[in-house]
Amino acid sequence: MSGHFDLAVVGAGVVGLAHAYAAARLGKRVVVIDRDSRANGASIRNFGFVTVTGQKSGDNWRRARRSRDVWAEIAPQAGIAIEQHGLLLALRHPESVAVAEAFLKTSMGDGCALRSSSEFTEAFPGAVGNLGALWSPHDLRVESRDALPRLAAWLTGRLGVTFLWRTAVHAVVPPAIETSRGRIEAEAAIVCPGDDLFTLFPHRVAAYNVTRCRLSMLRLADPGFRMPAPVMSDLGLLRYAGYGDLPEAQALRRRLEAEQPAHLRNGVHLIAVQSADGSLVVGDSHHYDDTPPPFAPVEVDAMILDELRAATGMTPPAVLERWTGTYSSCTDRAMFVDAPSDAVRLVMVTGGNGASTAFAIGEEVIGALYGCKVGGDA
Ligand SMILES: Cc1cc2nc3c(=O)[nH]c(=O)nc-3n(C[C@H](O)[C@H](O)[C@H](O)COP(=O)(O)OP(=O)(O)OC[C@H]3O[C@@H](n4cnc5c(N)ncnc54)[C@H](O)[C@@H]3O)c2cc1C
Repeated sequence: MSGHFDLAVVGAGVVGLAHAYAAARLGKRVVVIDRDSRANGASIRNFGFVTVTGQKSGDNWRRARRSRDVWAEIAPQAGIAIEQHGLLLALRHPESVAVAEAFLKTSMGDGCALRSSSEFTEAFPGAVGNLGALWSPHDLRVESRDALPRLAAWLTGRLGVTFLWRTAVHAVVPPAIETSRGRIEAEAAIVCPGDDLFTLFPHRVAAYNVTRCRLSMLRLADPGFRMPAPVMSDLGLLRYAGYGDLPEAQALRRRLEAEQPAHLRNGVHLIAVQSADGSLVVGDSHHYDDTPPPFAPVEVDAMILDELRAATGMTPPAVLERWTGTYSSCTDRAMFVDAPSDAVRLVMVTGGNGASTAFAIGEEVIGALYGCKVGGDA
């Protein structure tokens, strides 16, 4: 364990890698340190759905658009496949159609359109009661469990970033970075600990009232056809603030509270994406706790599968895998950047959308740290 670096990044999830990428582009000597032997947190457990459409207006939406562009630019260089493009949000209620129509009138609806019920049922013939779909071309999807290791390998091979795996960081006081394998020297540090609220700067984390959110996920067998795009359902119109903040969402909320109270209570909504081998990744749910119990109730999985059936008419194929993932969560912000000292930044994405926003956040934080603009031409 030796070497002197310009920047140490703690955490090799997507947020850490985004900061490493931004700093390496400035020519900084970067070391990424992670306690695990490979990325194993939220960043490989997610859908890999780089979601622009439906993000809260303002910074979130802007960051998602920029991060989507960075993904699109670096994916081919890093050997990462873009598995799917766009979004189809299936509409089953007149109130959902009203929300979609209102969304299309906002600037975030540019390029999006309503698809008719017959267009939707061409792709999903069993979707009885479908009233159409909101179509967006703005989103993309990667297979996170493959993409993260490829991204790390590319950062090493192409940009000379050093990775120290199996190395827990105990203290960050630049130039000293104290780890389970000794001291590393770095002039500055970015701490991206994901949902670890208690190891590094716990008092700073606590000031943001952060808790953790546990999500249930499933991989289903190939249904035997290609979905034209990732799919969401009406429940997503309430969960994603870009739609849910619209006044028209109130009527939909009242309806879904009456008709699907258990789904709302468990934070269940539908995202269904498809992988290269045809299998589907389907989720999810939201349960909040500082220490989320590891016991994932089967009825939550049943609700997710019910929603898939209702939105697409598909009989859910066999379950191949089940897993849960956790991310750090705040009720009042989607991310924060804290400065424990001049040379240290603590960065947490607390809105469950780090795959969609991390690259833009990395550019902003690194740009501010070094007093220059990063990005724009990845
Ligand atoms: C099931 C699920 C589905 C999701 N779906 C999506 C989606 O489709 N689209 C989207 O945009 N977002 C999605 N999200 C959210 C997104 O995955 C997260 O916002 C993002 O991955 C957070 O990245 P991160 O790098 O902060 O955390 P992580 O990926 O958890 O990485 C943190 C890393 O820090 C390391 N670490 C922590 N403390 C230390 C220490 N002291 N020393 C050394 N290493 C340390 C950990 O080992 C870990 O590798 C989803 C999340 C989950 C759980």
